[in-house]
Amino acid sequence: MRKPIIIANWKMYKTRAEASAFCQAFLPLIEGQEKVEAVICAPFTQLDVLASELKGSGVGFGAQNFYPVAEGAFTGEVSLPMLQEIGVQYVIIGHSERREIFHEDDSLIQQKVQAAYAAGMQPILCVGEHLEQRDNGQTVSVCSGQMLSAVEGLTEEQMKTLIVAYEPIWAIGTGKTATAADAEEVIGALRQAIAEKYGREVADCVRFQYGGSVKPENISELMAQPDIDGALVGGASLKPESFSQLILYK
Ligand code: PEP
Repeated sequence: MRKPIIIANWKMYKTRAEASAFCQAFLPLIEGQEKVEAVICAPFTQLDVLASELKGSGVGFGAQNFYPVAEGAFTGEVSLPMLQEIGVQYVIIGHSERREIFHEDDSLIQQKVQAAYAAGMQPILCVGEHLEQRDNGQTVSVCSGQMLSAVEGLTEEQMKTLIVAYEPIWAIGTGKTATAADAEEVIGALRQAIAEKYGREVADCVRFQYGGSVKPENISELMAQPDIDGALVGGASLKPESFSQLILYK
C-alpha cells in the first residue's frame, strides 16, 4: 500500500518569520490527520526554523537543492551532511527550474540521486517535458529517459523507496494543469518503464506525484487516479489554508 505524499515546494519565497507564521497557522489545520505524508521543502535559510516549528508534528521538511559532495571548494553550495545536521530528510532533485535555469544535466542529477541514497535521505526526483515535446508525442520517452538515467545504479531496495514527481514544464506555475487522465497516462507509463527494468514488485512500491498547478479544486480528481500517489505543489503550498486543503483532500 503506497502512502499518499503531498509536498510543498516553496521555491524562493518566504522569510524566516513568514515560515514560522506559516507553520503556526498550518499545523492546527491538519492536526490529527494521518492519511497523507506531508512535507515542506523550503529555502536553506528556513530549514532550521522548520526543524523547530515542525518538531513532533509528523510533518517532514526538505531542501530544494544540494551539491553531491560532502565538503570541499564548492563556493555557494550546501552538502547533504550540512542538511542532515539540522534534521533535513527529503531533497528535491531535478526540478525543471534547476534543469533549465541552472543547467543541471542528467549526469549531475544521477550523482545527486546516488548521493542522497548513500546519505540515507529521501530523494524526490522530478521529471517533465516541454510543451513542444508533448506536442511531438515525446512525453513518455523524455520523462522515462530522465527517470531511468537518474536511477541508474540503484539497488532494488533503494528503488522501492523512490519518489518521482511528474511535472510537465508547461503546467508549472502557469495555471494550466494536465488533466487527471493525462497525468495518469504518463505516470502509468513511467511505472511500466520501472516494471520492465526492475520488475513489477519494485514498480508497485515507487510513489509517483503529479506537479503543475495543483490546487484545492483539482487535487481530489488527481488523487483518485490509480497510479498517482501524491502531489508536488508550488503556488498553492504558500498559504496555510490552501496547503491544508490539499492535505485534507477527500
Ligand atoms: C513546482 O514548483 O514544482 C510546481 C508544480 O509549481 P506550481 O504548483 O506553482 O505549478
